[in-house]
Amino acid sequence: MHCVDKAPSFELEVELLSGPNCLMPSIRRQEPTSGKALPRTDSELENLFERLSKSTFRSRFHLDAAERQTVERLGLDVLRRHAHEIISKRLAKAVIANDGRQTPMRGYPVFKAQHATGLCCRGCMKKWYGIEKGRELTPQEIAWAADLIVRWIARDIRRFVSRPNAASQKTKTKTLAAGSMRQRELDLL
Ligand SMILES: [Zn+2]
Repeated sequence: MHCVDKAPSFELEVELLSGPNCLMPSIRRQEPTSGKALPRTDSELENLFERLSKSTFRSRFHLDAAERQTVERLGLDVLRRHAHEIISKRLAKAVIANDGRQTPMRGYPVFKAQHATGLCCRGCMKKWYGIEKGRELTPQEIAWAADLIVRWIARDIRRFVSRPNAASQKTKTKTLAAGSMRQRELDLL
């Protein structure tokens, strides 16, 4: 599985319908691409999650039962640390030989969150956040990405808790007890 091979045809279609983006290079080029442009405030992040929800490719990613249990078991602080390590090791270098193939599509909450948020490879980071390829990520960008990944995970857990039937019902999964995820932790995100 490959986020670049798999996605383009239909992501292209969807994004053609959804307004200014990389398909409109003249507009895109004028946008600042420094860290300042990254969505950080509540309203910027809401806006981002809204845009992600309109991408057919991004919006189909949700944590499955096993991944939710991993979240429950490890907690968000540990996942943030892992996200930081994963981004540092797999995405932060200036040149990445296997860019577009370095992030598995499932099996660990951080991986899924990376695809869901466009933080799966440098190609997608460029497309979604204007972060140039061919240079190292800054420590601030890595920390920002790890934070965004954890936000997405917390949102996806909340979504499941409020709409358990929206997730796969194939098996009678042990429902993640909402209370067992420290509510305070979720509320912070
Ligand atoms: Zn990607």
